[in-house]
Amino acid sequence: MAGLALAGIRKDFGRLRALEELSLEVADGEFCCLLGPSGAGKTTTLKVVAGLEEPTEGTVRIGGTDVTDVEPTHRNLAMCFESYALYPQQDVFTNLVSPLRSPRHRLPEAAARRRVEEVAELLGIDALLERSVTQLSNGQRQRVALGRVLVRPAAAYLLDEPLSHLDAKLRATMRAELKAISRERGTTTLYVTHDYVEALSLADRVGVLDAGRIRQVGTPRHLWEEPVDIVVARSFGRPAINVVSGVVADVAGPRFLADDGGLDLPLPGRRIRPGTRVQLGIRPRDLTLHRGAGDVPESASGSAAARLEGTVYVLEHLGRQAELTVRVGSCLLALVVPRTQVAGLGTDDRVVVTVDPRRVHVFLADDSGRRV
Ligand code: ATP
Repeated sequence: MAGLALAGIRKDFGRLRALEELSLEVADGEFCCLLGPSGAGKTTTLKVVAGLEEPTEGTVRIGGTDVTDVEPTHRNLAMCFESYALYPQQDVFTNLVSPLRSPRHRLPEAAARRRVEEVAELLGIDALLERSVTQLSNGQRQRVALGRVLVRPAAAYLLDEPLSHLDAKLRATMRAELKAISRERGTTTLYVTHDYVEALSLADRVGVLDAGRIRQVGTPRHLWEEPVDIVVARSFGRPAINVVSGVVADVAGPRFLADDGGLDLPLPGRRIRPGTRVQLGIRPRDLTLHRGAGDVPESASGSAAARLEGTVYVLEHLGRQAELTVRVGSCLLALVVPRTQVAGLGTDDRVVVTVDPRRVHVFLADDSGRRV
């Protein structure tokens, strides 16, 4: 295994700039996820590492060696792209064993068969080995493609949404398997996904990619708690972080005043110039629901917590939790609360919502969206 390093990568497709000033290091044995929306440049980044796209500028290193001008086949990377790239005329076994028949990885026939069977069992496709890949579902094909990666050792694994066609249950199982495999083998992995749950659960570190630029790289916890900007904050969490536009005022200390007057919160300890236009970010789980003024406990109604009055706009029961949207002035705030808290509650009922002002994020309302 070997670490990967991208430095100052730019990639232009004609006049379209797909990647810009992209630098990323994946340490030897590290599991790194690239998270970003469609078109952010995730696949292009993987292709640049693999050598399938030549960067317009910048260098690619594998295990410390500059491979920018090295042919893909000589980079010793195992890849799995969303388009599968399987041999359509062949059965599953042949597809899985072929990476072990390449001159570089040639294994004796019996050892190769054992290896294929092991990987097939791990991925739950051992009963399909004789089947032609044309007779497989998309989810089964995707697991064969992943099997072709896992079957042989490589300097690093490059995986592009390798679980996207699996149903939720199988995806969770495969996620756990992948994590275990990477830990056991100490595999260096660069894994592309647009699913933040996948990124948070798999990665040692996550790189958030947006419009061809890396916004932030960090551990899942770091990105969750200290997003550098509003794009990163919006990349994590479902329901997404609540964002309210407003301005900072000085009323015996800094306060946030929403543009429509619905929200008014103290921002203790924040040094933000009065008059600065900002966007307030509050995670749905950081809001606490109270069923009426009388229900707000002392600690929550004290100066430490901000108190907001509103009405229930939407209420959805989801297993042991409930998601609700509360209208405060003309702001709509999403909350996630234990289901027991919403028993008997209905649309238009009056509620009180509190939030610890230390838990809210404040972002500049300019192009940078930087957290302050
Ligand atoms: P998705 O999640 O939808 O796969 P992505 O984050 O992987 O998206 P890329 O496929 O890397 O995004 O594409 C980044 C940008 O580069 C997009 O605007 C895309 O249209 C463009 N692009 C990618 N490949 C090419 C190409 N071969 N020629 C021209 N433009 C391209």
